[in-house]
Formats: sequence, structure tokens, C-alpha cells
Amino acid sequence: METIVSLCKRRGFIFQGSDIYGGIGGFWDYGPLGVELKNNIKRAWWRAMVQERDDIVGIDAAIIMNPLVWRASGHEATFTDLLTDCKNCRHRFRADKIKGWEEPEKIACPNCGMRGQLTPPRDFNLLFKTTVGPVADEGSIAYLRPETAQAMFVQYRNVQETTRKKLPFGIAQQGRSFRNEIVHGDFIFRDREFEQMEMEFFVKPGTEDEWHDYWKEARLNWWKKTLNVSDEHIRIKVIRPDRTYIEGPDPDDVQVEKPPHYSKGNYDLEYLFPMGWSEIEGIASRTNFDLSAHANLSGKDLSYFDDETKEKYIPYVVEPAMGVERCFLVALLEHYREEVVASKDGREEKRVVLKFPYALAPYKAAVFPLLRNRPELVEMARNLARDLKTEMMATYDDTGAIGKLYRRQDEIGTPFCITVDVQSLDDHQVTLRDRDSMEQVRVDVSQVKGWLGERVK
Ligand code: ATP
Repeated sequence: METIVSLCKRRGFIFQGSDIYGGIGGFWDYGPLGVELKNNIKRAWWRAMVQERDDIVGIDAAIIMNPLVWRASGHEATFTDLLTDCKNCRHRFRADKIKGWEEPEKIACPNCGMRGQLTPPRDFNLLFKTTVGPVADEGSIAYLRPETAQAMFVQYRNVQETTRKKLPFGIAQQGRSFRNEIVHGDFIFRDREFEQMEMEFFVKPGTEDEWHDYWKEARLNWWKKTLNVSDEHIRIKVIRPDRTYIEGPDPDDVQVEKPPHYSKGNYDLEYLFPMGWSEIEGIASRTNFDLSAHANLSGKDLSYFDDETKEKYIPYVVEPAMGVERCFLVALLEHYREEVVASKDGREEKRVVLKFPYALAPYKAAVFPLLRNRPELVEMARNLARDLKTEMMATYDDTGAIGKLYRRQDEIGTPFCITVDVQSLDDHQVTLRDRDSMEQVRVDVSQVKGWLGERVK
């Protein structure tokens, strides 16, 4: 993890939030490469979940919602984690993350090591509070949303009526969520501000188990095919009210859990992070909990009339929900390689390469002139880069020797490097070098855009 953290900072993927003021815990800023990777992840998800489907549509809702939303959803009363503090060193911990937390008087503080100093765990609400309007009083309190899902329930009726969708259908959304996590950390794994990509799939009651299994498979495939995650690094934790078990690697390594209050069962997808197996996506069978709760509190009818069976019912919901940051971290950890390669003079040297799937790579191509003191080469390379930019993220660089420029692009995962050399002026061909095989081919400069376009699509 330290290697990835330092690469992210050094190459401009991620910076500490408010860096010059010493940062602020749980908030991060994404730099020029980070914003591209994030956008590519979001695009890949949207493509699979909305663009390529007939049965799912998207929305983009406000972050601040009427506080009654959070009363109905149960967040105001129960969106809590267990907090314990150490009376000696004053450190705070999420109690359920400490082994033996049920009897705090018997265990040592994970920070200072003193025994018997941890306080009995108490509920801590993770909602961030703010006030709306010019007067800050009880009546103006609102919350920053802790999940994007509720907007899909609250707007379910409007979306269903305007799109005339019939069950089963889904509503998807990507956007910021906020949780005042007791302990943030493991780099960007647990943040206080993060982005979620969630989809609520509305189904006929009685069909939810079938759809729950369908979405488990679909989402697992997405991680394997789009993110290229290997089979040994991903598994499913099945959380049912009566038992918890693993499908996939390390099946013995699991603690018993209960599904969340709104769910009759969860499939949690877990990735093998350096700190151990941890959740990257939750696929919850949310029953009609949310729609019923909103119908009750708002007094609005949120039932669905089934034309075929002439029945009226409140739909059940299956929800795949994931965070962009955890996916970002998976992309880096999964594709980071250190390879030994032969340098020009025959010595062995280390090459760091991010073997991202092309669709995720921040830049698809980088263009260099072989000699930066030859204006004709510089001009030809700049023109080519400018032309490529009309189709894809591409960059021009002439700030080092060619070997160094290749290494820099390898380290940020650019699939193709293109070099303009003296011969290019005569034969109008350039050298295209493949990130993974490091093989080089000569391609006519007029063909480069098409050649790359085919491959990086
Ligand atoms: P955890 O058990 O790790 O706290 P959770 O079960 O509370 O996660 P969900 O409420 O199911 O998480 O949220 C869905 C997804 O949102 C998670 O799988 C994760 O990818 C992402 N997510 C949740 N909390 C955070 C956070 N604090 N920082 C970054 N991503 C998060």
C-alpha cells in the first residue's frame, strides 16, 4: 500500500485534501491523473449499468434532501457505528473493528497498549449535519446524504411515470456521499467524503431472490472483465439472517454478521487488499423497506399497478452499491507491476508499470519527438498529439530522453507511446510502442488515430 500511496502522490493521482494546511482527515483531492482514472471508472460503470441496458435509467439528485427522508430511511435513528475511546491515550476507535470488543475491560488499547482503558462502546451517528437558510436553529437542520440510494426511492414515482418503465426496471445514480466515519484510513479506502455508484432495481415481490442472484453474477463479472481483477483477489461474502459464509478464496476467514436493518440478505463483494479482505461493493436485497417507509411518512402512494396481473403492490428492491474510491484503489493495486527489463546498454533495470485495462488508463497515448532540439520533429509530434486529443486523452512530452519518457508513461499506465524521429520526416511513419509487450511497430502517421482508436475503444 505504501508503494501505491507514494506513486499516487509523486505522479499526481491523489493529494492530501487541503495539503498546505496539513490536510483534513478522511478527505482527498484527485490530481490531473486521478480525475481521469475516476472519470473512466464512472464511465465504465455507467456504460454497463445504464447505456447498454433497456431496463435501467439514470438520475442526478441533490446532495441535501428534506431531513424527513433520513427519518423514513432509518438513518436519523440508526445510522450508527460503535465508538469506544481509550481513557489513557484518548484515541477513538470503531469498537467492532477491535478483536474482543464485546468485553472492553479485558482488552488492550490498540494504540497505547494499556489494558482496561477502553470505554464501553456507545452509538455514534455518522450523519454530517448542516443548516439550510439564514437562521441556524433546530428547524433548519439538514444532513449531507450518507448514500445516494434514497433519491432513487423518493423519485421512484416520477421516474417510473415519465419513462413509462414496467417492472422490473432500475434507477442508477453516481454522486458524492458523506459519512462522519469514526476512523478514516487505509489511504482512500475509508473516507468521510466519497463517491458512490448505486442502482435500485425494482422487482415484483417474490422474484427478488432470483434478481439478487442475477445482480451478484453481473457485478462479479463486471469486476473481473472491466477491472480485470483476478479470481484469487475477489470473493463474495454471503450475509443471511441465519448465517455468513464465503463463496471464493479463503472461505474460513469470515466473521458472523447480520444484514443491515433494511435488508433481508447481502452479497458483499470483497477484494484482497494489503490489509486483508474488505468490501468493495454491496448487493443488498432491500425488500420494500424503503418505499414503504417513504409511503408511510410522506402519505404518498408509492405502489405499482401491474397491467398484466391487475395487482397493486409496493415493489421489492435489489441494490448493487459501490464506491468509486475503493474501485480506484483496486485498479491501482491489481495492475501495479515491477518488472526487470534490459536497458539499451544491456544492463538490467527496474520498470514500474500500471497495466490498466485500456478503458481505465488516464492517457491512452503519449507522443514524443526523438530530438527536442529539432523544430520539425517537435512540430510533427505536437501536431499528432493535438490531432489525437480530438478523439482521446493524449499527451505530448519532450522533457527527457526517450527511455525516461517511456518509463514515465509506463508508471502511469499509458497503453501506447508514439515517437517521431528523423526518418518520420521522410517516410511519414512514426514508432508506436506497446506498454505491456514493449514491442514497437512503424505506422503511417495518417493511420495512427484510427489504429489507436480501434484498440483503446
Ligand atoms: P463498510 O462496512 O466498509 O463501512 P458499508 O457496508 O457501510 O461499508 P455500504 O453502505 O454498503 O458500505 O456502501 C456501499 C459502498 O460504498 C461500499 O461497498 C464502499 O465501496 C462504499 N463506501 C462506503 N463507505 C465508504 C467510505 N467511508 N469511504 C469510501 N467508500 C465507502
